[in-house]
Amino acid sequence: MGYTTFMDLQLNSIIDNRDIEGPGRLASVNPAIEEEIASVSLLDRNGALLALEAADRAFSSWAATSVRERRRVLARWLEIMVSEEEELATLVSIENGKPVNEARLVDVAPGCATLSWWEANLERLLEGRRAVPDQLMFAHWKSGYRFDPLGVLSVITPWNYPVGIPMWELVPALAAGNTVVFKPASATILIGLRLAEMARRAGMPPGVLNAVALPGSASDVLLDDPRVAKVLFTGSVEIGRHVARRCAERIIPVQLELGGNDAAVVAADADIERTARGLVWGAFMNTGQSCASVERVFVERPAYEGLLDRITELTKGLKVGDPAQPDTDIGPMTTAEQREEVERQVEAALQQGARTQCGGKRIDGPGFYYPPTVLVDVSDEMEIMQEETFGPVMPIVPVEDIDEGIRRANASRFGLTASGWTQCTRKADRFQRELNAGAVTINEHGLTVCGEANACWGGVGESGIGRAHGEFGLHEVVNIKYVAQGPGNRNGEPWHYPYDEDLGRFLGAALPLLYQKGLRRYRGLGELLTTRHFRKRVRKSSLIRRIRQFF
Ligand code: NAD
Repeated sequence: MGYTTFMDLQLNSIIDNRDIEGPGRLASVNPAIEEEIASVSLLDRNGALLALEAADRAFSSWAATSVRERRRVLARWLEIMVSEEEELATLVSIENGKPVNEARLVDVAPGCATLSWWEANLERLLEGRRAVPDQLMFAHWKSGYRFDPLGVLSVITPWNYPVGIPMWELVPALAAGNTVVFKPASATILIGLRLAEMARRAGMPPGVLNAVALPGSASDVLLDDPRVAKVLFTGSVEIGRHVARRCAERIIPVQLELGGNDAAVVAADADIERTARGLVWGAFMNTGQSCASVERVFVERPAYEGLLDRITELTKGLKVGDPAQPDTDIGPMTTAEQREEVERQVEAALQQGARTQCGGKRIDGPGFYYPPTVLVDVSDEMEIMQEETFGPVMPIVPVEDIDEGIRRANASRFGLTASGWTQCTRKADRFQRELNAGAVTINEHGLTVCGEANACWGGVGESGIGRAHGEFGLHEVVNIKYVAQGPGNRNGEPWHYPYDEDLGRFLGAALPLLYQKGLRRYRGLGELLTTRHFRKRVRKSSLIRRIRQFF
């Protein structure tokens, strides 16, 4: 197809900063025209082992690199990404199918934002924190927290946001001093390899970020290898469960960012125009292939007809077509299998009595196109309402009141994001408190969370375990290490052997003094002062410093 004429594609895995070929081939396909873009060299298990070896070898020196040096690499990576943003967005559009403008908006911009935020905040985030011991017996100890890297991390990502998601996972992991074996999804392999190639140009030292073109079926080694300290997985519930089981076998931590069946609850007072626009975008952006897309809409009855009409009208006006054109709203789905799955779910709903307001039938011709589809007359028992529908489908349901909307929204195994739509602050507060999800937004769905590098991202229930992004995301990629250091008392500490009658008298007086309220706490003070433990083993200077704690 000649795509290589406008950009240099990275066709090999990158291990130890070297291009590594494997025994297999993987065709990358343009979903808009169903034609091969390029053929990538595919590794097998041995290739993955090479990557693990390289990451393991690089770990100790990368972990010892100054924060300043790591920031420098992130800054250069950002510079490259910004200056090549158009090319990167074009590659996203060609391989993933989303319109170029959308690729800039929801993939490249969040990728840049992540690099920028971590570069700016790394020093502050990784700086050790002092902890003041609460226990007076330890008052003379210097205590605090360190945020040390974990080791080699496996980062496994899906194809729906082939820049955004890898960057959300890779950047904090690398910034914190871990080394990584990164396995991008096969359907968007060129984009995944491209990110690693940019990092290499940015000066990422050899072995720190290794990107492997590896089929999912050969990826268990990234979970089982004893050198892997943690797995950051984003993908389906089915594979996520498999990943969690393997990690449980080795008792290593795992962060799971899985599916969603996100609900929007619309109050009768919502602004219809604003709500319709927000929901149409939230449901159909990225051709609905978002873990956090709007998948169920519950509308208070007085607003139902008006909102449905406006949503239908806006949906019919969306331009479905060539993602390379700047005025295309909806591109093709990324894979043929994904389109078949969506078709199957919609067909099943129609068989059970649902009706389409628009869409509902695949678009003929080359390309994995499926039109944005608005469904009514759906019931909660239908698969389309129970399961994640990874495609452009919006079922809309009238409800009697907000109570019913929230109850039905929460009746799900998933809980990634949710939204409430209202102009009333009291109702907004209710939505935020009562909707059961990892993030709840008012009058918008999703982007204000995943597009914000400082917001945390993650779900409840089967939507996953852990929180990526921002300050809380740091906790996923470090060993939060508590450290304590004392001058040490030559005569021993109060808790050291021997246990004797003097220790009994000491504790009998000290415990009320430390923990009882009112005057009764001082009843053993005189006794305390006479004990050998107090005289010889308690550091008086630290008690004086903390004297206020006794009153
Ligand atoms: P998937 O689970 O099929 O694949 C995800 C990744 O896992 C891919 O790289 C795949 O090659 C790899 N994989 C497959 N088998 C594996 C194995 N045995 N060991 C290790 N890795 C293996 O998911 P997908 O189809 O690529 O993506 C769609 C799913 O991802 C949807 O369910 C969507 O909701 C979810 N998702 C979740 C989030 C989130 O943040 N919660 C974000 C995006 C996508």
